[in-house]
Amino acid sequence: MGPTKATTDPARIHRSDLGHPDICPVFAYHPLYRNENVDEIHASCSQERMRCKDCKGLAGEAINNLLVPFRERRNDYEQRGDTVKEILIEGT
Ligand code: SF4
Repeated sequence: MGPTKATTDPARIHRSDLGHPDICPVFAYHPLYRNENVDEIHASCSQERMRCKDCKGLAGEAINNLLVPFRERRNDYEQRGDTVKEILIEGT
């Protein structure tokens, strides 16, 4: 799912409309996946200072940052196919 396809606050049709982050599915990602700026994002939405596109971008960035170590581990194992086979054989 790309960042521009996620459903947002259904009452916020135009950027000039006040946002309702507490009912927005996109906002729910911020407290789950980021440790900072959540209150600022909430306020920016509520005060119509943030575009939904930017908000989605921040949510996507936070989720991607969380996945970096998993991707690195995956790449590492991808390089070491023999080790993976040994682990699988030992585990059977
Ligand atoms: S700015 Fe973010 S929290 Fe507010 S309506 Fe848009 S996507 Fe939802």
